[in-house]
Amino acid sequence: MNPPVSENITIRLMEVCGTHTMAIAQSGLKQLLPRGIQLISGPGCPVCVTPPEAVDLAVELSLRPGVTVCTYGDMLRVPGSSRNTSLLKARGRGASVEMVFSPIDALELARQNPAQEFVFLGVGFETTAPGTLAAVKTAREQQLANFSVLMLLRLVEPALRTLLEDPENRIDGFLCPGHVAVITGEEGFRFLPEEYGLPAVIGGFETGELVGALKKLIRQVQARDPRLVNAYPRLVRPEGNRMAREIIREMTRPAPALWRGLGKIENSALELKEAYAPWDAALKYGLTLPEVSAPSACRCGQVISGRISPEECPFFGKGCTPDDPLGPCMVSSEGSCAAAYQFGG
Ligand code: SF4
Repeated sequence: MNPPVSENITIRLMEVCGTHTMAIAQSGLKQLLPRGIQLISGPGCPVCVTPPEAVDLAVELSLRPGVTVCTYGDMLRVPGSSRNTSLLKARGRGASVEMVFSPIDALELARQNPAQEFVFLGVGFETTAPGTLAAVKTAREQQLANFSVLMLLRLVEPALRTLLEDPENRIDGFLCPGHVAVITGEEGFRFLPEEYGLPAVIGGFETGELVGALKKLIRQVQARDPRLVNAYPRLVRPEGNRMAREIIREMTRPAPALWRGLGKIENSALELKEAYAPWDAALKYGLTLPEVSAPSACRCGQVISGRISPEECPFFGKGCTPDDPLGPCMVSSEGSCAAAYQFGG
């Protein structure tokens, strides 16, 4: 089934998305790849790219009287800039933290408890942006003043450009995230072959879809024929989801942002426009993220930029396990370290 590959060639393919990382690990596909082909993780796990300083801000907010921080379950255990800082630990110290499954749940909590302030942590990429923005829009329409969002939404393209502009990068092709492409369309990844001469295949998440996408990617690398291929046509249209793109365009503008492991990247975040400023938690509470992260023992930044594998981190399985994580890559359900720990690298 796999195309023949010379054992001497090392082809390094980056799976951008954390959901792909976990699906590949669960399926055992890494172990089945021909020798000489290596899959490396990319910056597509939203929890993993959120800088520790953002967790510190969320913890600080959750300890303020009258403020409840609402977030997805994965974010609860992510350490901030100290191993002893997380939303879960803050809750143990009396902070008000609620786990929610969607921003609409947080909005509903705000509606039901008008005397309390609710801040939703808006982490994610293009995929989750429309849902988060729809909650902000609803809050504005209903004049819900006790709801706001800490905007931590990131864009995939600027992160990939940052990786590729590093002269030491050794990436031969990209398995592009199917669910981001549902929003951006094929157009969101065309820059990879056209500007960087790299093969790119948009892939789905079932094992059969992953095998098909990887096969197409490997063939392109071998043939030195870089193109963008949509191997997930049942959900990804060339133009993407126009309605979702319109809500992003109408409500936000690109802004610089700090990424774990990648530093500050221009135009890589979504910032609410003035009309929605009252629902922007950073403005409401006077919060600012630093421009540079403090040094950390955790190597997540290197893992999510494909520089090292999880097993190459000296803490993997020793000082850092899913029960006692040092960094987000071991916490997140899409984290590379968690995937390698559970299913093997
Ligand atoms: Fe960070 Fe732990 Fe992964 Fe090492 S094993 S990179 S410390 S999350």
